[in-house]
Amino acid sequence: MKIAITGCGIGGLAIANLLADTDHEITLYDQFDTPAPVGSGLVIQPVGLRVLEKMGAAEDALAYGAAGYQMLGHESHTGRKVLDVSYGPNGGNSFGLGIHRASLFEALLNASQRKGVSITTASRVTGTTLLNRKHTLDLTGKTAGPFDLVIDASGAKSPLSPMTAKPLPYGAIWGTVDWPETTSLSYSRLQQRYRRASNMIGILPIGTLPNDNSPKAALFWSMPRNDFTLWENTPIDEWRKGAIGLWSELAPFVEQIQSHSQMTHARYSHGTLRKPYSQGLVHIGDAAHRASPQLGQGANMALLDAYALAHCLKHYALEQALAEYHKSRKRHVKIYQAMSWMFTPMYQSDSRILPILRDWLLAPSSTVPPAPKILTSLVKGTMVSPHRGIDI
Ligand SMILES: Cc1cc2nc3c(=O)[nH]c(=O)nc-3n(C[C@H](O)[C@H](O)[C@H](O)COP(=O)(O)OP(=O)(O)OC[C@H]3O[C@@H](n4cnc5c(N)ncnc54)[C@H](O)[C@@H]3O)c2cc1C
Repeated sequence: MKIAITGCGIGGLAIANLLADTDHEITLYDQFDTPAPVGSGLVIQPVGLRVLEKMGAAEDALAYGAAGYQMLGHESHTGRKVLDVSYGPNGGNSFGLGIHRASLFEALLNASQRKGVSITTASRVTGTTLLNRKHTLDLTGKTAGPFDLVIDASGAKSPLSPMTAKPLPYGAIWGTVDWPETTSLSYSRLQQRYRRASNMIGILPIGTLPNDNSPKAALFWSMPRNDFTLWENTPIDEWRKGAIGLWSELAPFVEQIQSHSQMTHARYSHGTLRKPYSQGLVHIGDAAHRASPQLGQGANMALLDAYALAHCLKHYALEQALAEYHKSRKRHVKIYQAMSWMFTPMYQSDSRILPILRDWLLAPSSTVPPAPKILTSLVKGTMVSPHRGIDI
């Protein structure tokens, strides 16, 4: 088949890599002129790491990233522990890999290029035209195709996905900072501080960057989606004071932020395609399902989608392959989208009641067995099988 992949992000590179050893003729398009992954760090969960292994990208990713063995969250005012999820003992095989987007991209790109994948850059996709069961891609100023299959991996702003996602009231600003030598915080933990659900600051160790060997961290600060402009127009010093007021131990991290431009805005939305495919067109990653990053699953979901779709395209004829892809991922996507919908307002909303429930009901009950095990499997991405009927 002639296959077009739109979007050279996490899902797009993964599917191109996993299909590289087939006879299909694959073209990977992205709007960028040169690859420039935006944003800061994220966590690759153990299920996502397994896909990276299959792609030949795990070794590089592990060399760049930082193994995290615990997620800890405290209420800022009372010091009360609100979140404590452990992957297993420090130094063990089970961890979430904190990694900068640029480093993850580099690992995915290197593994894909070793398999002969090339990228057609400066190609912004605006739509497709379906004629005689084949799609022609509309790119700015040109067309391409026809293709037997278009794989839409163009992320949360996909022009091909029919999803109407609901904007979430809170987003965040994210920045990359050096890990200070003076801090007593652990480099193997993601840590957060909250005040109600309206304030949250967090620090995520993310290892090193492709051209910089010094250890880094992602610093994030929750913010109502409509407050970004106000924040940009407020002196940065005021924000620093507020951030350090919420968590004084974070001062050596926060003080590195000297200008608004060091932080990137992220707006979040929530939505799921009921059927992520149609005639000759299939959606993976954020083009198929979007959620807040509270559970740290988006990149994993894109990798899991790519793995399932590649598997189905290798084992079934086109129409059945798309249906089987949907079947294998449906339950996992549904449960994780529901969990994200349920948990996000406890950490990012204006609600007064939800953070009280979080601190006084959920936090104590989460320490009673089997809750810790359930929470760990939720975060690891294995609360339900990621791929029904497919072994990975
Ligand atoms: C601040 C933040 C923190 C996050 N933290 C985590 C985390 O800890 N763990 C986790 O698993 N997930 C996390 N996520 C989610 C994760 O980043 C996404 O779910 C994941 O990147 C989705 O992968 P994707 O391949 O679908 O899209 P992307 O990785 O966004 O890639 C989309 C690609 O498509 C290209 N593109 C877009 N439009 C077009 C077009 N019209 N034409 C051509 N190309 C186009 C873009 O240039 C880009 O290269 C986070 C997200 C955010 C915003």
